[in-house]
Amino acid sequence: MREVDEFTIKFVRGIQVLDSRGDPTVEVTVVTEAGGMGRAIAPAGASRGRLEAVDLRDGGKDYRGRGVLRAVEAVNKYIAPAIIGMNSFMYRNVDRKIIELDGTENKARLGGNACTATSLAVINAAADTAGLPLFQFIGGSRARTLPVPLMNVINGGAHAGNKLSIQEFMIAPVGADTFHDAIKIAVEVYKTLKELLKATYGASAINVGDEGGFAPPMTSTRDALQALYKAVSVAGYEPGSDVYFALDAAASHFYDPSEKKYLIDERKLKPLELVEYYIDIINEYPVKLIEDPFSEDHPEYFKMLRSKVRGKVLIIGDDLTVTRASRISKFISEEIIDGAIIKVNQVGTFSEAEDSIRVLLRNDRKAIVSHRSGDSEDVTIAHIAVGFETGLIKTGAPARSERTSKYNELLRIEDYLGGDAIYSGKNAFLR
Ligand code: PEP
Ligand code: MG
Repeated sequence: MREVDEFTIKFVRGIQVLDSRGDPTVEVTVVTEAGGMGRAIAPAGASRGRLEAVDLRDGGKDYRGRGVLRAVEAVNKYIAPAIIGMNSFMYRNVDRKIIELDGTENKARLGGNACTATSLAVINAAADTAGLPLFQFIGGSRARTLPVPLMNVINGGAHAGNKLSIQEFMIAPVGADTFHDAIKIAVEVYKTLKELLKATYGASAINVGDEGGFAPPMTSTRDALQALYKAVSVAGYEPGSDVYFALDAAASHFYDPSEKKYLIDERKLKPLELVEYYIDIINEYPVKLIEDPFSEDHPEYFKMLRSKVRGKVLIIGDDLTVTRASRISKFISEEIIDGAIIKVNQVGTFSEAEDSIRVLLRNDRKAIVSHRSGDSEDVTIAHIAVGFETGLIKTGAPARSERTSKYNELLRIEDYLGGDAIYSGKNAFLR
C-alpha cells in the first residue's frame, strides 16, 4: 500500500483539445508525488437541461466562438494552485475545494468543462497512484458487474437532420451471458439495420450522426421502431427477449410552450395525449425504458406515465434530473422516476455525480452512466459504470471511436476480471 503523501497532487495542467464534433474542449492532466498520472477530457452535450452546469466558452472569432481558453486558464491559474498539495486519494476534499472556488450553483465561474476535466483527472491520478484500474479504485475488489449497453442506433431530434422528434432509438442486448456476447449481438443488429436502411432509403440514410447512429429520413416513431424490430429479427435474435428497445425522447426539445403541445410525428399532442401515445407504443414494441418522455417542466406527466407502465417500463430522468442528488431525491420521493442518467459534466464534479449514483442505488433506482453527444477518447465513464455496478451504460452506437473507446474499455475490464465478471443482462431492467 502506498504512503498517504504519495497521493499528493504535484502537477496539474489544462490544455485545449478537440471533441468528437471538432469543437474545442478542456483536457486536464494530474500527476501525484508518486508519479501516478490521470488525464480526462470534458465532453459536451447538444440537448442540455436548463439546470446543467455551464461550460465556459470564449466567444469571439476563433473557433467560431467555441474556444475554451478561458476554461483552460481557470484550470491553470485558479484550480491548479488551489489543489496542488492536496491528497488525491481524498478526492471528495479536492472536489469540495473546486466547488468552493467556483462558488456558483452551475459552475459558471470556472466553467463546468474546467471542473469536470479536473475532477475526473484527479480520480484517475489517484487510481494510478494506487496501482489500480479506476473501477477498482471506485468499487474495490467486489466490483465486477459489466453494464448493459444502451446503444443509440437511430438518431432524431437535436442529434439529426430528419423529422423524427424522438432523439434516440436504442437497443439493449440483454439476452447474453457476457459483455462480449452482448457487443456481438449489438454489432450484428447494427450492421443488419444498416443494410435494411440502405435498401429502403438509399445510401444517404446510412450516414451516421453524432453518436454513431443512423439518421434515416423517417417521419414517425413507429417507422424507427419497426426498423429496429426488423433488424433484430433478420439478425436472428428475438425482440423483447434477446434485445430490448429504449428511447430517449428528450421531449423538452419538441415541446412548444406557446401552444402547450408536443410536436411529434407531424402532429401536435397535449401532454395527456402524449401519455396515451407512449402507452400505445409500449404495447406494440418491446420498449423497456423511456428517458425524458416529457419536458423537464412536466414532472407530473412523468409520474402519470410511470403509474400506468409500472413494472413494465422504466421511466428515467435526464434533462429533468441533471445529475443533481437533490433533484433526484425529490423525484424519487415523489414517485416520478425509476432512475436517472448520470453525466458528470451536468453537475461538474465526480463527487457530485457519485452522490447522485448513491442516492439512486440506495433507493433501488437505476443509475445510467452516460456519454455526451460531443465526446472523446476518454474512457472514465466505463470505469464509473463498473465501479458502482450500475448495470447500465449509455454510450452510443457501436461505431465512431469516441463511442467504441468506452465499449473497448469495458471489453478490457471484462477480460481483466476473467471468470469473476458478471454481465447484468435482464436484471438491469428489473425493479
Ligand atoms: C442525452 O440527451 O441523453 C444525450 C446524451 O445527448 P446530449 O449529450 O446532447 O445531451
Ligand atoms: Mg437524454
